[in-house]
Amino acid sequence: MGVITLTIGTLPKGKKGADMIIVMERNPVKDGKPLGVKACLDAVCAYVQAHEYEVDISRGTGQTVVGVLGDFDEPEKADALMHALRAMDGVELVQRVSTKYKLVSREFPGHNPTVQVNGVSVGGKQLLVIAGPCAVESEQQLEATARAVKSQGAHALRGGAYKPRTSPYSAQGLREGGVFLLDRVKRACGLPVVTEVTRIDLIALLHERADVLQVGMRNMANFELLSELARTKKPVLLKRNIAASLDDLLLAAEYIARGNPRIILCLRGIHPTRNVETRAQLDLDAIPLLKQRTFLPVIVDPSHPAGRADLVIPFSQAAIAMGADGLLVEVHPNPPDAISDNEQQLTFEQFGSLMTGVRAVAAAVGRTV
Ligand code: PEP
Ligand code: MN
Repeated sequence: MGVITLTIGTLPKGKKGADMIIVMERNPVKDGKPLGVKACLDAVCAYVQAHEYEVDISRGTGQTVVGVLGDFDEPEKADALMHALRAMDGVELVQRVSTKYKLVSREFPGHNPTVQVNGVSVGGKQLLVIAGPCAVESEQQLEATARAVKSQGAHALRGGAYKPRTSPYSAQGLREGGVFLLDRVKRACGLPVVTEVTRIDLIALLHERADVLQVGMRNMANFELLSELARTKKPVLLKRNIAASLDDLLLAAEYIARGNPRIILCLRGIHPTRNVETRAQLDLDAIPLLKQRTFLPVIVDPSHPAGRADLVIPFSQAAIAMGADGLLVEVHPNPPDAISDNEQQLTFEQFGSLMTGVRAVAAAVGRTV
C-alpha cells in the first residue's frame, strides 16, 4: 500500500472560541424601512475590528452569528463594546459566552453544522443506528453482519480494525487488513463505516477509508490525537472516558471543534459508584445534562456498559426515552465465537428485536428510526 498523505484542512491558528457572540437579525428594519443585511454585518464587523477584536462569522440556519474573539480581560472595555454593538442596526442579540467550552456550547449556536451520516441529520428527528461487530474478524463475518443490520434498518456499520485491548495478550484486531475489509464491505453493501482511530499516524488512512472516525474511551484525553482530528473533515464519534466528567468530555470535543465541528458524542458507561452487575454503569443522566450545555448530538453505546447481551435492548430503549440521538450497538453472526466482547454482542435476531423495541420508544418520544 502506498503512503496516503494528509491533505485535508489546515488549522494554522486554531479557532479559539468566541468570548462574545452577536446574533444578526434575519430581516433588519429601521423606521419601517428594510435595511441591507450585508451592510449591517459589514458595519458590525468593522466596528469590532476597529476595537482590536477578531471576528468569526458563522452562517447558521438562516441566521448569521458573529463570534468576537480577543482580550476580554478588561471588563469595562468588554461592557462598552457590548453596549455599542447592541445599539447597532441589524443586531438582534449580543451576549458574552461564559462557558469553558466555547465552540461546542449551546450559547454559540453559530457553530452548529448538522452531522450527516447516510442521510441522517444526527441530532434531528431521525435517530442514527450504527451496528456491527466489536472487531473486524473476516470478510464473511463483516459482510454477513452488514447485510443483516442494514436489512433491519441500521444506517452505518461499526467494526474495530485497530483495537485498544486492555490485555496485550488479547487479540489486537486485523489492523490495516481490517480497514481494507471495512472498505470492501462498505462498497459491497452500501453502508458507511465507523471505525476507531487509535493513533495520529492512522488518521490519513482511516480518513480515506472510513466515514466516521471513532475515538475510543481510552483516547478521549489523548489531546494530540484530538488536535489532529481537528484537521479532518469526516464526522468524529467521541466516546466518554469511563472516568470522565461531562466537562472533561466537552473540553475534549472542544479540541476537535477547533477545526472540525462535526462531532457526535457517545456515552458508553462510567465507573460504577457501587458494585453493579454490569461492565460499567450506564450514564443516561448525561444525555439531558449534555443537551443543556452543547448542541452536539449525543448517542449511546449500550453494549459496553452492559457487558452482557440480555441488557442491551432495555439499555437501548431507555437511552432513546432519555433523548439520545442514536445508538452504537455490537452485533455478531455468532457471538460466542467472537474474538472480543463475545458476551455482549447481539445475534442478528436479537438486533431485529432491538430495532422493534427502539422503534416503539422512538415513536413515543416523537422520533423516527
Ligand atoms: C469500541 O466501541 O469498540 C470500544 C473499544 O469501546 P470503548 O472505547 O467505549 O471501550
Ligand atoms: Mn467491544
